Amino acid sequence: MKIATVLRNDDYTREVEQALKEKLHAVNSPFTFVKGPGEQPDMVLSIGGDGTLLEAVHQYGIEPSYVGIHTGHLGFYADWRPEELDEFVERLMNDEPLIAEYPTVQCRISTRDGKQYEKWALNEMVLRNANLSTLVTCVYINGDELETFRGDGLIVSSPSGSTAYNKAVDGAIVHPSIEAIQLSEIASINNQAYRTINSSLVLPKHHEVELIVMNPEIMIGLDREQAVWKDVCSIRCRVGPDKVKFARYKRLTFWGRVRNSFISG
Ligand code: NAP
Repeated sequence: MKIATVLRNDDYTREVEQALKEKLHAVNSPFTFVKGPGEQPDMVLSIGGDGTLLEAVHQYGIEPSYVGIHTGHLGFYADWRPEELDEFVERLMNDEPLIAEYPTVQCRISTRDGKQYEKWALNEMVLRNANLSTLVTCVYINGDELETFRGDGLIVSSPSGSTAYNKAVDGAIVHPSIEAIQLSEIASINNQAYRTINSSLVLPKHHEVELIVMNPEIMIGLDREQAVWKDVCSIRCRVGPDKVKFARYKRLTFWGRVRNSFISG
């Protein structure tokens, strides 16, 4: 089995990677590490935080399975602490992992010149105006007009992304076994003139949200990546066809992660 590592850029994280490689070497493990960017791994070890895991997923895509070792605080995507490396190596050598599959958000971005761009995110797609003025977007669900949104932005999150930016705007936390996307508002304008639903909406797998963009320049965020886009006319989002696979060598429930991260970590 070929393993790749993706690291947070700090000395401690590099030390943890080195320690892990030495431990695997000491037990004559059958695992080999990929040598260059051209090689496709079977498993990716992300060492850092949830942000590092997002980077790993966009670097290696949906084929490999992922394991996270967190060198900061407890994470949603990372299961192992650096002080548990011996146990991790033992499980890696002897156990068959449980594979947890997390849904993604699929986005089709259409520009006024007729081009279409297929994108995806593990956490979320964020739409904001490119400058500080109001984002104006018509929101359609399955072709039915819902509202004209005016405000700072809109987030379309996956279930595993529901604990990230989506939670900060009071979106619901959705268990990753539910194949859904969630549309949440960032600071909508609600007054006598303008009105939005002002609640997060959870859409099932066969539903699609379309955002018709009125601003000439917008900012689109896909997990860690952000870019300014010009002349976008529409962004269509739905549950992606692919899921990201996490190799679980220890039992940590999603709700346990929620408690550890937000209540009593
Ligand atoms: P960052 O701004 O450096 O970190 C954002 C924080 O979100 C980090 O603490 C990160 O955890 C955490 N995080 C990432 N994915 C998560 C998840 N699924 N559930 C719970 N927490 C999660 O940005 P980054 O490290 O590049 O991560 C990008 C993510 O930041 C975006 O996908 C977005 O969700 C989030 N974000 C949140 C806000 C907000 O809450 N107001 C604003 C912008 C972006 P680690 O420390 O373990 O990496």
